[in-house]
Amino acid sequence: MQNQIVRCDECGRGTKINLKERKYGQGRREAYFTCEHCDHKYTSYVTDTRVRRWQVELNETTDAVQRFNLQLKIRERMQKLKTEL
Ligand SMILES: [Zn+2]
Repeated sequence: MQNQIVRCDECGRGTKINLKERKYGQGRREAYFTCEHCDHKYTSYVTDTRVRRWQVELNETTDAVQRFNLQLKIRERMQKLKTEL
């Protein structure tokens, strides 16, 4: 992920994904990167304390159904957090 190159939608040039983290209220953290040419900001994902707790549970469980459900919950909540940011 760190050395991946993506095309910037704003300026059309290639830029490295250099992830940075920004903290918001209520334990929310945004992982983002900016285009090295035009500085356009892209949000990769957003987590909060609940998402990070589920991620810990996910790493600790080996049960396939539980893992599946946790992954679903995490994905849905991350989507929601991203739109609310
Ligand atoms: Zn750009």
